[in-house]
Amino acid sequence: FLSLQRVHKSFALADGPLPVLQDINLNIRQGEFVSIVGGSGCGKSTLLRLLVGLEEASGGSLLLENEPIRGTDLARGIVFQDHRLYPWLTVEDNVLLALANAPLSKAQRHELVQEHLALVGLSGFAKAWPSQLSGGMSQRVAIARGLVNRPKVLLLDEPFGALDALTRAQLQDELARIWLAEGITTVLVTHDVDEAVLLGDRVVVMEPRPGRIRRVVEVNLPHPRRRDQLELVQLRQ
Ligand code: ATP
Ligand code: MG
Repeated sequence: FLSLQRVHKSFALADGPLPVLQDINLNIRQGEFVSIVGGSGCGKSTLLRLLVGLEEASGGSLLLENEPIRGTDLARGIVFQDHRLYPWLTVEDNVLLALANAPLSKAQRHELVQEHLALVGLSGFAKAWPSQLSGGMSQRVAIARGLVNRPKVLLLDEPFGALDALTRAQLQDELARIWLAEGITTVLVTHDVDEAVLLGDRVVVMEPRPGRIRRVVEVNLPHPRRRDQLELVQLRQ
């Protein structure tokens, strides 16, 4: 479904090329949840940026459904560590922005936005301003924005890194629930090995430098474990 073959990426620095990704081979199945873990600077964000076309690979191929990835294919479904909401737009308008180029009527856009705010548990906050939201709520909005135009893949770069432990656990469970409900192929980059194992069907472990995959681990405790966790969080509330 999503296939990376011999992907290389180097950045040209003043004192020569800096190799950041070397010989990355990875095949992701449709509907799969893949976590990527690795130390700071190992190239995780660069890999996601290649997938959304924010960077161009120096070599190798990146295919989505057997077609080369174009910048626009996946760019829709990305969520960053800092939510990147526009403070001068309401919650609703921040999510609407992701539909700017969609061939939809105003009513259809509105409906999609409402549907996705409900999906992340923020139905009542359409008219709120980002400054009125907590960090966890802001990330929920970012996830709604990432999902609203139904991307083929949801890409998450450290989405919960800046949150407190309890909020992080809640959002992890939310994400698991959304993933189960929507069946969307998801790639999660995280520093947190527990999070990677909790959520991922497979965990890709990167070498610290210079950006190779060390190994890929199958997680054989899939959905029931996530549901247990869901119940735990409900208990905490
Ligand atoms: P972190 O966990 O801290 O977010 P990361 O694994 O996401 O790290 P990247 O952001 O992908 O790491 O960066 C990998 C390496 O590539 C770093 O050494 C970084 O300095 C370098 N790098 C990233 N982007 C550029 C760029 N545009 N130009 C030059 N070097 C870059
Ligand atoms: Mg990063």
